[in-house]
Amino acid sequence: MRVMAQVAMVMNLDKCIGCHTCSVTCKQTWTNRAGTEYAWFNNVETRPGQGYPRRYEDQERFKGGWQLRHGRLVPRSGGRLRRLARIFANPELPSLDDYYQPWTYDYETLTTAPLGDDLPTAAPRSLIDGAPMAVTGGPNWDDDLGGGPEHTAADPLLERVGDQVRLEYEQAFMFYLPRICEHCLNPSCVAACPSGAMYKRVEDGIVLVDQDRCRGWRMCVSGCPYKKVYFNHRTGKAEKCTLCYPRIEAGAPTVCSETCVGRLRYLGVVLYDPDRVGEAASVPDEKQLYPAQLGCFLDPDDPKVARTAEECGIPHEWITAARRSPVYALIARHRVALPLHPEYRTMPMVWYIPPLSPIVDALAAGGHDGEDAGNLFGAIGSLRIPMAYLAELFTAGDTAPVEAALRRLAAMRAHMRRVNLGEPPDPSIAEGVAMTPG
Ligand code: SF4
Ligand code: SF4
Repeated sequence: MRVMAQVAMVMNLDKCIGCHTCSVTCKQTWTNRAGTEYAWFNNVETRPGQGYPRRYEDQERFKGGWQLRHGRLVPRSGGRLRRLARIFANPELPSLDDYYQPWTYDYETLTTAPLGDDLPTAAPRSLIDGAPMAVTGGPNWDDDLGGGPEHTAADPLLERVGDQVRLEYEQAFMFYLPRICEHCLNPSCVAACPSGAMYKRVEDGIVLVDQDRCRGWRMCVSGCPYKKVYFNHRTGKAEKCTLCYPRIEAGAPTVCSETCVGRLRYLGVVLYDPDRVGEAASVPDEKQLYPAQLGCFLDPDDPKVARTAEECGIPHEWITAARRSPVYALIARHRVALPLHPEYRTMPMVWYIPPLSPIVDALAAGGHDGEDAGNLFGAIGSLRIPMAYLAELFTAGDTAPVEAALRRLAAMRAHMRRVNLGEPPDPSIAEGVAMTPG
């Protein structure tokens, strides 16, 4: 066994209010420069929705000249010349329309225009595959639209879920999904870079671009399934989320974590076995990718793991940080956090606690208090946010781990409510969680 350390993040989606403070503070810190106006290293998407850049989850659209083979990103077959042609042409890139056109107000007119009787009526417009559509502008195209037949039909996940999600307005649902680079254990951006400019730091797993080596091929842009590398058209180099490494090195959290209004971002260190990564990323059955990635993480409280970590040169403070980190506990001990699109096989390291509202809403709609212990393990067939939709996001379509995570979260909420009310613990809550599969 070998041991490596990785800085990772868990976001609790129940707490995100979509205020975009994280995006704005990140932008002010990292992309407030010429050439990166359109780039949001941190963005917050409304789900269901198209995301940013638009329809990035449509992997057919941006698959480029690459394919995953045995967990590694390799050029598609077709002869050396064809491969070279693909490399140099690299046509599979999102266009600026897929991101957004930066704009600003005409502040002069805004403040000096004479008073009028009418309110302005013009709505910002965007284009969906060439067809105009009235949506709010900016990197979150779908903000405030929620789920309805016209506005969510373009969501690739809804297309995959199909009949299981009925797009009626009375069944509308929405939640926010903040996204940064995943700092993957198996980063396809690194594999795709012909210049060796993209690299994953050995000491903490942060994925960076060496600006001196970058030649602007943009293979990392087409190679990243999450579309989290951006091209600076002023410098001609790739740029991406740095996980605020200068702050991490100084012992401070990332800017997005520090400024998050919902306090929903847990940042920490996890220990993993690098020798298990390739095998886990190559598991043939997509639904087994989540448990396969779980199997790469090592328990920092295990004395053998701690000893091996020291032998592998991981500083003592990092091993202590891994023990204290809520990230390992949320991901592996309590299994309430899930990876985003594990089927991309890059082994993402930003994980999400799914929104709990489905269980509570469904049970409350039945006339019960959804947080009563007696209701926690009943039927949850009619959920506000369809389980199938969450499963398409987090577990390659397998609903069992999502349901298990939601039940554990509901149980914890019920337990804490009793504690806060000074009531004795209810053993049926713990028993129910222990029986939860997944
Ligand atoms: Fe690379 Fe994309 Fe993974 Fe970030 S999310 S490490 S840019 S493959
Ligand atoms: Fe959500 Fe926090 Fe970002 Fe606000 S600052 S949008 S609460 S992640």
